[in-house]
Amino acid sequence: MKAGLVAEPAPVKRPTPPGAGNRGSSASNGSSVSDRGVAVTSTHFIRSRIGKICVAITGSSPAEMLGNAEQIVRENHFVEFRLDYLANPVAALPKLKQFLYERSEVTAIGTCRRAATGGKFKGTIAAELEILEKAAQAGCHLVDVELQTAEHLKPAQLRKLREQGAALIVSWHDFEATRDLDAIFERIKPFQPEFVKIVSTAKTLSDNVTMMRFLDRRRDEANLIGISMGDQGTISRVLGLRAGSVFTFASAHAGKETGPGQIEARTLRETWRIDQIDASTKVYGVAGNPVRHSLSPLMQNMAFRRETVNAVFLPLQTTRMNDLLTLTREVPLHGLAITMPFKSEIIRHLEKTDALSEKIGACNTVVRAQDGKLYGFNTDVAAIVRPLERRLPLNRARILVLGAGGAGRAAAFGLAEKGAEVVIWNRTPETAKKLARQAKAKTIRREQIAKTSFDVILNATPIGMRGNKATSLLEPKELNTRLVFDLVYNPIDTPLIRMAREKGLPVVTGVEMFVHQGARQFEIWTGKPAPEEEMLRVVVHALRQEKDKS
Ligand code: NAP
Repeated sequence: MKAGLVAEPAPVKRPTPPGAGNRGSSASNGSSVSDRGVAVTSTHFIRSRIGKICVAITGSSPAEMLGNAEQIVRENHFVEFRLDYLANPVAALPKLKQFLYERSEVTAIGTCRRAATGGKFKGTIAAELEILEKAAQAGCHLVDVELQTAEHLKPAQLRKLREQGAALIVSWHDFEATRDLDAIFERIKPFQPEFVKIVSTAKTLSDNVTMMRFLDRRRDEANLIGISMGDQGTISRVLGLRAGSVFTFASAHAGKETGPGQIEARTLRETWRIDQIDASTKVYGVAGNPVRHSLSPLMQNMAFRRETVNAVFLPLQTTRMNDLLTLTREVPLHGLAITMPFKSEIIRHLEKTDALSEKIGACNTVVRAQDGKLYGFNTDVAAIVRPLERRLPLNRARILVLGAGGAGRAAAFGLAEKGAEVVIWNRTPETAKKLARQAKAKTIRREQIAKTSFDVILNATPIGMRGNKATSLLEPKELNTRLVFDLVYNPIDTPLIRMAREKGLPVVTGVEMFVHQGARQFEIWTGKPAPEEEMLRVVVHALRQEKDKS
């Protein structure tokens, strides 16, 4: 039997109307009286009402909080009222009672977390307890008590809280690490709450594995909610449900997060489709640093949805190869989009790579084959060569490649292989020389560029990228070329692209490359043709929105 499953479901009644006193032990709202004489809203009743996402509602005043709730419950009937965000939480409770009475479809958690345990409430434990009792009387179906508070309370105090009829969540938040999960669980268990909530902080990708293993191990002992916070905890927020978390928490909107790394409810539902994730959902991700703002998850998840592939694509932020390899093995991941700084390093961890990746020494796509082994491909090269091939014959075309990093190498090898005369300029001349030797290309000095004419000038440096301080590498007089290709894709109209347009030159933007390389990855992973036009549409839309915001 699960810990805290103290009562079986009772007949479901509507909450008492405002002004009609509390629910006491009247078995309303799915409550029943346990063998300990305590009235609780039954776990079954709650589980039958809630979805997989609980949206945290905040507000600086009762009116703002209820206004926010009003909007959210149109899409999501399960919400948490963060009463600790209010200067005077008690003042909000009559309005909250009215709200819950009028919306019987809503299931609500009342939370008033103290500052000492990561919340905003500055009052005492006694004051917190009083607010939670009143929240239960106002119709909240669950109340959240931190373990530290529960351990501080006398049994009679906790019993009195439970007599208000709401189910109990005993929660633990660790803002520093993912550790001691079983020990915390054992400390919570004696309180026999209806729900056990354990929230840790992921410092590595592997911390998600620790959290999901814990959920899987203890899921039959309690109604568990397990999440790892932070940028690296996204995996637990998306995959935790299938590991055993009863539900997960989400923010109402971007910027309204109540915990580090919390994801907007709509994104969890529409981009990550967490309602549809099951045991057979294949997991993919973009791995590297930074990937927080990568558009690959948006683009690939949209493609999976469009082509009805049971798969999900996650951002995998890490600087450590071992961490990535552990996650890949343990989840297990079915494919990876590899980005900086792993494109070269990943190769030696793969069973085999295609000839191109080996030659360039960079791999941006990993797939787990039927045999369970990992194989590598490079889709960057085709994503540079194809857009150019569509516009001009590459054989003997004179192409200036600016940069000799991963993208510069892909360009130099790919274009030289097509018969182009590749000329490389790089900030560090030695790197340019080395690449020129390997790819059978030439190098050029900075001052020669203005005096030389090219068929294509291709930028493979981060200059022009959003957030990059330098705005331009070349001056207008140095654009002696028939075409300009900027691999930078955010923003779409980079300073280089704008400069080329002002000179009346045709351009290829980095978005075309980005979508092309992603479409080929999708095909490698799924064996299906990629919905390339849709992928382009969603990426361009996201970039325009980002531009409008800035
Ligand atoms: P990388 O391996 O880190 O190489 C960066 C290159 O840029 C190096 O050659 C570096 O020169 C040069 N560089 C960096 N800062 C510079 C500066 N301030 N002035 C002059 N040169 C500078 O990165 P990467 O993977 O090749 O990516 C390069 C850019 O290509 C990315 O920033 C991204 O915008 C773009 N990209 C786009 C796509 C796409 O799908 N559209 C795909 C991949 C890359 P040193 O050798 O002197 O350090």
